[in-house]
Amino acid sequence: MNSTAPVYESAGVLYADTDFTQLNWLETQWAAWYLWIGNPVIATGLMSFLLHEIVYFGRCVPWIIIDAIPYFRKWKLQAGKVPSPQEQWECTKQVLYSHFTIELPLIWFFHPMAEMFGMSTWQVPLPALKIMVPQVAFFFVFEDMFHYFAHQALHWGPLYKHIHKIHHKYSAPFGLAAEYAHPAEVAILGTGTLAGPLLYCFFRGDLHIFTMYVWITLRLFQAVDAHSGYDFPWSLQHILPFWSGAEHHDFHHMAFVNNFSTSFRWCDRLFGTDDKYRQYCLRRAAMKKASANQKDFIALEKKMLAEIEAEGVQAEAVAESYRYGTKEKTT
Ligand SMILES: [Zn+2]
Ligand SMILES: [Zn+2]
Repeated sequence: MNSTAPVYESAGVLYADTDFTQLNWLETQWAAWYLWIGNPVIATGLMSFLLHEIVYFGRCVPWIIIDAIPYFRKWKLQAGKVPSPQEQWECTKQVLYSHFTIELPLIWFFHPMAEMFGMSTWQVPLPALKIMVPQVAFFFVFEDMFHYFAHQALHWGPLYKHIHKIHHKYSAPFGLAAEYAHPAEVAILGTGTLAGPLLYCFFRGDLHIFTMYVWITLRLFQAVDAHSGYDFPWSLQHILPFWSGAEHHDFHHMAFVNNFSTSFRWCDRLFGTDDKYRQYCLRRAAMKKASANQKDFIALEKKMLAEIEAEGVQAEAVAESYRYGTKEKTT
């Protein structure tokens, strides 16, 4: 990963000085892909789009299966609100439409821009783990902060009504709903995912697109899992207490207020936008303690969730009616 890529040169010329005996299996496959496609720009664009589709829908499959198996309902965050196959299919169609109309051009235009800033694409060998880990950690922190502020802005009346409302269609989300959003939202919030690597490239210049793929894969896992609607005892937030996870984001969809960040809990804590969520956690814990048995607890919890959701519907109506004079009631 040294020189700037002469992107329109033929792939065979790109690897003229490469000693293939020094490469590992993955690096050989990497170069073979670029040699096979023949044009580095097309090879990169195609690989990026395929990666996004395979990882996104691939990560949704386990959640679709879990939704179909009643055994897992005991870990469902909003008990009883399991999406129907029809709902999941409607959501998939909308997500696919947005992938082909918005994300495909975004992905395609990202690469010439990134290469301009010095990102490596076709080059081998691939970066070492000790180089990738801090870069990916930076992208996570950057995206989380960007998303926190941009997401709050999307809750401002006019932006909510015209853009973010689509993503809030599901008050009890499921994996496939992670990217169910208005095209403008995909572009706005996608900026948080892409701007970190672009800025890094601009200032440091030593980023390989392979690291970007690791980042995108982890980010997609995070987004799909956060919308899964399940909180297992082995979920990541029980191991890393600052990780948001499904429990944190599910509350956002249910209550409409609080919990605006993506991966971490610290922004909401720092700026005080998790007060209602923390109150809910305390009430839930107290209920569990006071309940004579699991059945009583489930009944009490259901009542509390219904109250929070009703408040959420009201908060949504207020957001929507902002600047429009009348307080329209919404569903
Ligand atoms: Zn929101
Ligand atoms: Zn969401």
